[in-house]
Amino acid sequence: MKKRIVGFSFLISSILLVPCWIYANKSPHFVCVIVIDQFAYHHIKRLSPYFTDGFRTLLKEGVSFENAFHPHGVPTTATGHSTISTGALAKDHGIILNNWIEDGQNVVFSKDNSPESAVLTKKGSGKYGYSAKQLMVDNLSDQVVLGSRPYAKNYVYSISYKPRAAIGMGGKLGKCIWFDKNLKSFTSSKAYFKTMPSWLARFNKTHDIKKVGEVDWRLRFPITSTPYQFYNVADYEFTKQADHMAGEIIKIEGDQYDKIYQKTPESNGLLLSLAKTCLDFNFKKMNDEDKLLLWVSLSSLDRIGHIYGPYSLEVIDMIYHLDSQLEVFMHYVQDIVGAENVLFVLTADHGVAPIPEILQRKGFASAKRLNSTALTEEMNKIIEDEFGIKKIVQTFKANQFYLDNSIKKDLSKEKLNQIFALLKNHLLKQPAIKTCWTNQEMEKAKFPKNYFEQLYKNQFNSKRSGDLIFMPQPYCEIIKHQKGTTHRSPYDYDTHVPLIFYQEGVTTGKKNKKKVYMTQVASTL
Ligand SMILES: [Zn+2]
Repeated sequence: MKKRIVGFSFLISSILLVPCWIYANKSPHFVCVIVIDQFAYHHIKRLSPYFTDGFRTLLKEGVSFENAFHPHGVPTTATGHSTISTGALAKDHGIILNNWIEDGQNVVFSKDNSPESAVLTKKGSGKYGYSAKQLMVDNLSDQVVLGSRPYAKNYVYSISYKPRAAIGMGGKLGKCIWFDKNLKSFTSSKAYFKTMPSWLARFNKTHDIKKVGEVDWRLRFPITSTPYQFYNVADYEFTKQADHMAGEIIKIEGDQYDKIYQKTPESNGLLLSLAKTCLDFNFKKMNDEDKLLLWVSLSSLDRIGHIYGPYSLEVIDMIYHLDSQLEVFMHYVQDIVGAENVLFVLTADHGVAPIPEILQRKGFASAKRLNSTALTEEMNKIIEDEFGIKKIVQTFKANQFYLDNSIKKDLSKEKLNQIFALLKNHLLKQPAIKTCWTNQEMEKAKFPKNYFEQLYKNQFNSKRSGDLIFMPQPYCEIIKHQKGTTHRSPYDYDTHVPLIFYQEGVTTGKKNKKKVYMTQVASTL
């Protein structure tokens, strides 16, 4: 028994999180971590009275941490998934955003064009690929695989529509699978498999989304019933897409049809089917001592959340569908591996902000949207007028500005400081911006532990972070989109996420109010 625990233990090693588990002599053979992209804690607060299935089971029978937070100020998908799997802060795991500028080059997390990481098809081979090469530390998946023994093998799979989510969780040694928008099917790369696994090829063949002509998005409850009685559910004035999707028959056609499909509840169902197929295939070959860690990241809520905002009928109904889909999925898993032999973890990579204009309309005058493209142009004009230097601000990425390296390298330190002073002055004049730092200032900065500013420091990596980094005021968004919403602040709505552990016969419906951080999840597992 002891040997098994040393090899791959799901007993709690961190007394910070679930101390009661220390006394439970059960180490499940299967752990399934479900990450719902953009599933903010505020959704649970609002919608839990109407949960009837999977979420209800998790909340009723699991250990729910009601104050779990991501420890960074600009929450993004890649940063969130990498933080959950590594237990490290973004400053150390290096995935500070979904993409960033490094040595003057745009780096997209998980993209890797080396032949060893080419995607598993002729179409992609050699031209583009994916791996975890930008991840600067190992993660739980790597450690679980390394913990394999001759008599007890550990398997790790990581599945998502988004490669950055799958790879953020699966790391270097887990087997990562994602949806390829060129191929319009699930795939992986040579960084993970020599050739396409037969079970995955079979799944793609039997679940060909190119053949899906339309999706009938039926509401889970009657439209006039209380689960939908909220303000703003029918407010489409400030959504990125004016047409309704929930309750409609959606035609899946045109070049972007995979994108349309991924905005429907059915797409979550398809990903869960892939997770079941992965489990079926692997469970068959496992012996009694073997263990399996399966990461499943459901991307579709994020796809529609950005468009319609958190209060929309689309988002609310997709969550109700997830409630039912997860119940079916969890039962399926429990039937296969034995109910007491599986630990489910449910969490999210980040939250989401309300659409600022909707708040404004309600009387929150301070809620604002500031156009990042216009702001960048203003900043460049100020520097051009003062010093005759054109387009010094090259790129804006999630609350940071990167200056053009080719211009920067020829400037004296004094001149550069003058430029930073002017740019900062302009940023601080914006009512939507609370504070800002240069890269150097952030490097030297020290903040009290519980300050929001510390969350920026946690995410700061001098090589990868921008030349200027700013923190927005609450409910303010600095983005290029004129409508819709995003998740780029250190505030509760963006960083507070659900964190629930559920294992039948072990967890017993406890709620824990202690503040915990998502860096604690990996060490707990
Ligand atoms: Zn997002």
